[in-house]
Amino acid sequence: MTFELPKLPYAADALAPIISEQTIALHYGKHLQTYITNLNNLIVGTKFENADLETIVRQSDGAIFNNAGQTLNHTLYFLQLSPKGGGAPKGALAEAINKKWGNFDEFKKEFSAAAVSLFGSGWAWLAADANKELQILKESNAGIPLTKGLTPIFCFDVWEHAYYVDYQNRRAEHIEKIWEKLDWDVIERRF
Ligand code: MN
Repeated sequence: MTFELPKLPYAADALAPIISEQTIALHYGKHLQTYITNLNNLIVGTKFENADLETIVRQSDGAIFNNAGQTLNHTLYFLQLSPKGGGAPKGALAEAINKKWGNFDEFKKEFSAAAVSLFGSGWAWLAADANKELQILKESNAGIPLTKGLTPIFCFDVWEHAYYVDYQNRRAEHIEKIWEKLDWDVIERRF
């Protein structure tokens, strides 16, 4: 199967100044496009040639995993953002967060701390197990909770390419701001 760049549900400048148009152009237009192009080239002639993206992520390793993981991670990342984002989740996801962390602010603090403290390149994830119990994970490089049998709910990209143009070394400031662009309607549907 040939993978394509997912269409953004917002304009390239719609998340500015929290995520600038230049960062979207580079992060989405160049970095994500490169992972997708690499993946398409790497699977030719392999058992993954006709597999869907989740199957490839679950079953591959090495370069195919790195590019498939980054394709899926960035797809989840960019589609969970909205110019009208922010606030807090509602319904079942809110209940599950409150059950585990007491309240949304406490969860937010713990999730941000995980994202800020992740060493090197990687992703902070909220994931759910089969019983819908939630956990925060720190994954290096292209890591995704899917490979641990968990459902990915939302993610923060802490590769420097996600924030360096807009925040330089100030990862914590980027993490604090990006909460304002999370689209909880999209995220709740993954739970
Ligand atoms: Mn990225």
